Amino acid sequence: MFVVLDTSMKAKNIAVIGSGITGLSAAFYLKRSGHSVKVFDKNSHTGGVIQSIQKNGFTYETGPSTGVISKPEVTELFEDLGKQDLLETAPSLAGNRYIWKNGKLHVIPSGPIGGLKTPLFSWKDKFGILLEPFRPKGTDPEENLSSFVRRRLGDSILDYTVDPFISGVYAGSPDVTIPKYALPKLYNLEQNYGSLIRGSIHKMKEPKSERDKKATKKTFSAKGGLSTLVEALAKAIGAENFVLNANLYVKPENGSYKVVDNGNEYGPFDSVVLTSGASHVFDILPFAKGKGFDSASEVLYAKVAEVAVGFNKWEGFPLDGFGALIPSKEHKKILGVLFMSSLFQGRAPEGGAMLATFLGGLRHPEYVDLPDEAIKEMVSKEVKEVLSIPHFTPDLFEISRHEEAIPQYDLSTPKRISAYAGIEKAFPGILMGGNGIGGIGMADRIKQGRDLAERLA
Ligand SMILES: Cc1cc2nc3c(=O)[nH]c(=O)nc-3n(C[C@H](O)[C@H](O)[C@H](O)COP(=O)(O)OP(=O)(O)OC[C@H]3O[C@@H](n4cnc5c(N)ncnc54)[C@H](O)[C@@H]3O)c2cc1C
Repeated sequence: MFVVLDTSMKAKNIAVIGSGITGLSAAFYLKRSGHSVKVFDKNSHTGGVIQSIQKNGFTYETGPSTGVISKPEVTELFEDLGKQDLLETAPSLAGNRYIWKNGKLHVIPSGPIGGLKTPLFSWKDKFGILLEPFRPKGTDPEENLSSFVRRRLGDSILDYTVDPFISGVYAGSPDVTIPKYALPKLYNLEQNYGSLIRGSIHKMKEPKSERDKKATKKTFSAKGGLSTLVEALAKAIGAENFVLNANLYVKPENGSYKVVDNGNEYGPFDSVVLTSGASHVFDILPFAKGKGFDSASEVLYAKVAEVAVGFNKWEGFPLDGFGALIPSKEHKKILGVLFMSSLFQGRAPEGGAMLATFLGGLRHPEYVDLPDEAIKEMVSKEVKEVLSIPHFTPDLFEISRHEEAIPQYDLSTPKRISAYAGIEKAFPGILMGGNGIGGIGMADRIKQGRDLAERLA
């Protein structure tokens, strides 16, 4: 239940640093509960990495492409904004997810018969899965995902499902990902039920509250691209409450905080909510540096080049699914390709296609720095092969490079979590958020933004 101030509660003056989806969600709920907010961002636009662009009849994203309604807070954000009509969910074909193996695309099986027939997994692992409920529980909370999956499910499931999934979501590697921090639900299935299969069955049988039912696991975007959600949030917060192009730091003063930006002082603020990402913490809070919390800014980022490729007329592989992911064992240069025009309306002209492809990640960060022509050659060669098109003559080709695309939830995560908590305790009124903790997905970000607001409300 969201708190709205009653007349006996005192409205606070709050600074939110960062206007990505986390900062906007926090500011929206803070304002809604009666507080004054000022949102600061170093960029000239709101939305952080979210940016949707319309060009020549195509709509493409330069940052996140899709989210999952894995938490009720996603549905509720659209409802609370009064913009339910903006929420767009992908059709059921999004359930088809393709994996590249031995020169062909194969659908990830969703049931036992498909599981037996698929060439993605070895016979040993297909039958071995029957023994999963009887395998002993892991005892190392810092075990990496490769070892976790090998132990519970087998090598081929690691190589042809989990590895491409981690490339697709984290641009990472299961050798680096720690399930306890990156995939806590999966980790807890084993910890609480002793088995992933037994735990999943248990979870399916658990009664769901009306609120839980708002988490549908569907793929979502906003109509016209994710920027329309960002714009609706910014409008609800009010243009007068933003300071963009900021070059700022925060200073404590008489029990509250001031934000100093390009020589201008804002405040005093009762609270400062940080949502700017882990690597920037001490640029913003210089007074907290060297006080034992330095792990707060220790974070490994994956670099990513996202390439939007549009065709006015599509004549290749039928784009009847979410997209295709490429396992690292297959030694290709792209990490995967999303079929954006199959998921959401209006992303390409009728009969055409809008694809989003990704390069780089932890395994090949050097690809991101290649000149545009070299990236175009890589994408051309691989999209032609993977999606069976004779010629690569796109009508739209746009590259977006992200130096700090995705923070990895690796062994540094617990130190970061504890340093964030230490800063909050040492400096009352500072609240620490951002995608360095609490998950990288858009649902995680919306939930964290709202949680930060609720802590202050
Ligand atoms: C290329 C890419 C693809 C992705 N794809 C998906 C996807 O398909 N699905 C999904 O769920 N997630 C995806 N993600 C992850 C998801 O987009 C992010 O986790 C989420 O959008 C981050 O939101 P945020 O508000 O926490 O951070 P950001 O969007 O990074 O916003 C942080 C803001 O803080 C500002 N800031 C930083 N330093 C300062 C400073 N010193 N002073 C003032 N302001 C500052 C920045 O300018 C920025 O606007 C993707 C991410 C990237 C980069």
